[in-house]
Formats: sequence, C-alpha cells, structure tokens
Amino acid sequence: MTQALLEVSNLVKHFAVGGWRGGKAATVRAVDGVSFQITRGETLGLVGESGCGKTTVGRCILQLERPTGGRIVFDGADLTGLAQHDLRAVRRKMQVIFQDPYSSLNPRMTIGEILSEPLKVHRLVPGRAEREARVRELLLQVGLLAQHARRYPHQLSGGQRQRVGIARALAMEPSLIVCDEPVSALDVSIQAQIINLLEDLQARLGLTYLFIAHDLSVVRHISDRVAVMYLGRIMELADRRALYEEPLHPYTRALLSAVPIPDPSLEAGRERVVLRGEVPSPLNPPAGCVFHPRCPLAEARCAASVPGLREIKPGHWAACHLVDPIA
Ligand code: SF4
Repeated sequence: MTQALLEVSNLVKHFAVGGWRGGKAATVRAVDGVSFQITRGETLGLVGESGCGKTTVGRCILQLERPTGGRIVFDGADLTGLAQHDLRAVRRKMQVIFQDPYSSLNPRMTIGEILSEPLKVHRLVPGRAEREARVRELLLQVGLLAQHARRYPHQLSGGQRQRVGIARALAMEPSLIVCDEPVSALDVSIQAQIINLLEDLQARLGLTYLFIAHDLSVVRHISDRVAVMYLGRIMELADRRALYEEPLHPYTRALLSAVPIPDPSLEAGRERVVLRGEVPSPLNPPAGCVFHPRCPLAEARCAASVPGLREIKPGHWAACHLVDPIA
C-alpha cells in the first residue's frame, strides 16, 4: 500500500471580519471541510476560481494559518497538535513557491546571499566555502549559472526569478512543496519551462507537490490527480485522466468547457457551458449545495441539502446530488 505523506481531514478555516465600533463581526468561511491525501512522490493539482479557498488550504498546510478545525498530518505528525518548537523542524520539510517570487526576494541581497541565508540560519551547511558550493549546486539544479549568484533580483527575468524561488525552496531539502500559482505571472513559453523543471526535480529528488492554480489547463500536464474547489469545498477529486476525460461534477464540466482545445474542428463542435452570475461571497455562502445558484442542473433539493463528497467510482469523488455511486 502506498503511504500518504500528507493527510488533510475535514479542514476548516474561518476568518472573523468587521466588528469594529460596535458593529457585528462576520465570518468568512474560506475553507469548509476539505479532505484529501497526497502520496509520496505524487502531484495533486488544486484548482478553483479566485477566492475559492485554495491558497488558504495551502497556507494551513504550511502552518502560516492555524486551522479553525480539522486535522493535518504530515509525515506521520499531527501538525494541529504540535508545539511551536516541534513545528519548526516539520516546517523545514514543507516549502512554498509563490506566484511572484520578486516580492519575496530581498532586493538588496544578491542571489547568492538569498540562497545561502537559509543554509546558515538552519545550520544545514556550516562553513562559508561549503555554502558557496551548495549555492552553485542549487543554481545549476534549477537551470541557472554559477555567475547568477552575484546578480540582484532586478537583474533577472521573471522566469529566472522563479527559478531562484525554486532553488530557495530546494535549499531546505523539503519533501513537500506547495506550489502556489507558480507560473501564473509568466509568459506561456516560460510557463512550460518552469513546469518541466518542476517535473525533472520531482523525478530526481522524489519531491511531492501540491500544485495550486486557477486554471485547469495549467495543472493538466503536471498533476497525477486533481481536486476542484468551489467556495471552500471540494467539488470533485479524481486522477487526471478521469477528471479531464470523464468529469462528473457540473462545475468541473463548466470549467473544462472554457479551456481552449488546440484542434479547431474539435473546438468548433463542442458545447460550452456558460455559468450564470458571479461566485457568491464566502461571507454568506448559499445554503445546500454552494454551487446551486449557478448550476445549470440545479433542482429544489440542491438548495436544501449539502451533497457530501462521495466516491462514485474507485478513486473518483464528486459532491453532487445528481451523481450516484456506481454499484
Ligand atoms: Fe448542481 Fe445540484 Fe449537483 Fe449542486 S448538487 S452541482 S446544484 S445538480
């Protein structure tokens, strides 16, 4: 049996907002009962529109946010019960790659200083000469040159800066990397290079990825399985082939119908599902199925009861009253 590196069970994260000057505080239900596992060496794509809670899931896993409820077990350790001191050691094994590495790279430090700092702070590489050698190795691993160590962030292109962001994550020798929209700010040709690099590194170093994106076309290439989120909940979770070729949930079908197909004859012949309205506010999510105000198939029961995420076929989960498990 394959072993899960990360297990997220019924994760809940609510934020209190407002309540100033005697006003009533409101609750943003950013994540509302999310569960999934990621096996060692696997990539799980987590996809959804802006504001669906996917980044909050990533931040809870990294313990940058403390969950309101639920459990996160990483490498056998329940993070929700760990003291700060013990969390520090676990956190090192979980790293993050951001959408915009520029904002997280100190503009006054050279790339060499940026990469050697965590090696020194976490006492991963003690001597200065050894640290310089490790920085060179990290730069080469991500497709940069040793000379890049002397440059400043503003002297690099967007793609090169993202490679530095990846090298900085690798410096900590992680087992899990949360990739939070790592290619969204890059040109399409550079996106492919970064995704190929992430795949190469995974194969070489045995990394596990949670790959967060707002676009199903971006995660298709890299993901082994894909989870689709909407308003704080998982709507569908399946392996890549099943999700793209046999989607079960009306929301996944609508998202997929908006992804362009490179073949003009196929593109012309397919049906496009246009969703009505906007994503409702997580301050006041709809009752019942949270997708019901926009769902083209909604029935009366959809507004009355919440559909659970059920295993419809082996490994293929969906949360919809109209999709029944195959006996
Ligand atoms: Fe649509 Fe109802 Fe299914 Fe929700 S439960 S996705 S509203 S059909």
